[in-house]
Amino acid sequence: MAKAIVVGNGALGLFTARRARDMGMGVVMVGKGKPPDRFIVLQENVIRVLERVYGGYPGVRVKGIRVLDLKGREWRRIESEKRGLRMASVSYGDFLAFLEENLKDVERVEGYATSLDPSGSVRTESGREINGDHVFVAAGKPFRKVVSYKHKTFYLGFPRLSAEEDWILQINDSHFYAVVTPFGQGRYALATASEDVSPLKELFGDFEWDPFPLDLSSYYTPFWRKGRIVYLGDSVRRFHPHTTQGINRAIWITDRFFRRGLKFSPWDVFGEFVFFLEGIVLDSLWGSGRRRIRLSYLPMDVGFGYTLMAGTL
Ligand SMILES: Cc1cc2nc3c(=O)[nH]c(=O)nc-3n(C[C@H](O)[C@H](O)[C@H](O)COP(=O)(O)OP(=O)(O)OC[C@H]3O[C@@H](n4cnc5c(N)ncnc54)[C@H](O)[C@@H]3O)c2cc1C
Repeated sequence: MAKAIVVGNGALGLFTARRARDMGMGVVMVGKGKPPDRFIVLQENVIRVLERVYGGYPGVRVKGIRVLDLKGREWRRIESEKRGLRMASVSYGDFLAFLEENLKDVERVEGYATSLDPSGSVRTESGREINGDHVFVAAGKPFRKVVSYKHKTFYLGFPRLSAEEDWILQINDSHFYAVVTPFGQGRYALATASEDVSPLKELFGDFEWDPFPLDLSSYYTPFWRKGRIVYLGDSVRRFHPHTTQGINRAIWITDRFFRRGLKFSPWDVFGEFVFFLEGIVLDSLWGSGRRRIRLSYLPMDVGFGYTLMAGTL
């Protein structure tokens, strides 16, 4: 039986462990710590994969995105379901719990991997050496940045709000950007481009929140393997969260990698670069003037934007 070592216990580590197990490999998973919580919007591409692999997906269905101005008037509606492209939202903690519940027959090693060798050897912080036929690294950190981009700082928090439960609300108006994502049981994530949320209090009434800054950077590398080591998820590239494709694309590509008999297609790897660029374009458009914001929604009118967002392009 081929042996796989999975380094990292985030979404990509857990998904990879499951796929390797499904392919009949013996799996050892090395991981430590818990990634910080955040909102995750699952798009059509990953929903299809999760349904096939797990028979379902976690979170709540959302109809799409309503874009509001600062007075609360809707000036744009991105109704993805009309195009047959589903969206669901979930907290990262709940998503990880879903993946954990569906993992069986995997040996867990609690600890960090401290060194990797392309021959297939992994050393852990306790000094243990584990050898495998395949090493899948999903440690959430870049191993080699080729291009990178530092985005504007965003603030993220989980306030108690009375907002809609089945739409994501984007408040995108002259020099102000915020997004409210519901993820079930009255819970919301609020991400803003500015620490001053007084304009939102006019829309949602007074609320308390305890935001933390997200100093975001994106990076991309076309080198995804070295000897027996395969790099996956954020360990090989990271996009801006508002492309909503960080996990979605990574799970989708990883699934294709297993289905193709452990091979990446150059087209898929290039597609990742497109998402890296998309993150930069989005970052430069929001919080700008109305005309530029309108321009950013243009691709939605021809359908290209919908399919890009849903990852099914
Ligand atoms: C605010 C925010 C919102 C987002 N929204 C979306 C969204 O809507 N849709 C979407 O698709 N994506 C979204 N993303 C991106 C998504 O969260 C990431 O792409 C995804 O979580 C990466 O998963 P991962 O498993 O590669 O890494 P991580 O989740 O970072 O997991 C890595 C794990 O490996 C462990 N680890 C680290 N080093 C080692 C080591 N040496 N040995 C062993 N273990 C190690 C870490 O402790 C961690 O538990 C968002 C990101 C943010 C920040």
